[in-house]
Amino acid sequence: MITTEPTLEYIYNLISEIPDPEIPVITIKDLGILRDVKFVDNKYVVTITPTYTACPAMGMIEDQIKEILFSNGITNVKVELTYSPTWTTDWLSQEAKLKLKKYGIAPPNHSSCTKLFSTIDVVVCPRCNSKHTELISRFGSTACKALYKCDDCKETFDLFKCH
Ligand SMILES: [Zn+2]
Repeated sequence: MITTEPTLEYIYNLISEIPDPEIPVITIKDLGILRDVKFVDNKYVVTITPTYTACPAMGMIEDQIKEILFSNGITNVKVELTYSPTWTTDWLSQEAKLKLKKYGIAPPNHSSCTKLFSTIDVVVCPRCNSKHTELISRFGSTACKALYKCDDCKETFDLFKCH
């Protein structure tokens, strides 16, 4: 039972731990897609920026934000998507990159996609840190990832595609 209006910080903290639907080890805060919480016209407006437009996960994240807030008695909630500025992998926290690697996904090492998939790009194997890796498929387990194979440990792994 909430007797006073919850603070924006309280709201932010409640939803910041929502895991990414595709990579459960990182949160939407780690990903940098949770942009803002504000109070407008008696509504808590949560702004999120989609990572990849092809990602079906955004609807799930929106539902989860509402679910968590509703279960805490906060029902005047609106989730807004903003595409500007565009999300880039620069918004990933350092912690998020470490978590990705631990999870077996190679984190992006730059934000510009113009060089992705060119031969000068080195993708480091998240398992053995080998630089001898090769691209198998531009689409890994989801459209947001690319599938790579390591020539040293012979394992395949996902690269979190830069954006
Ligand atoms: Zn390896």
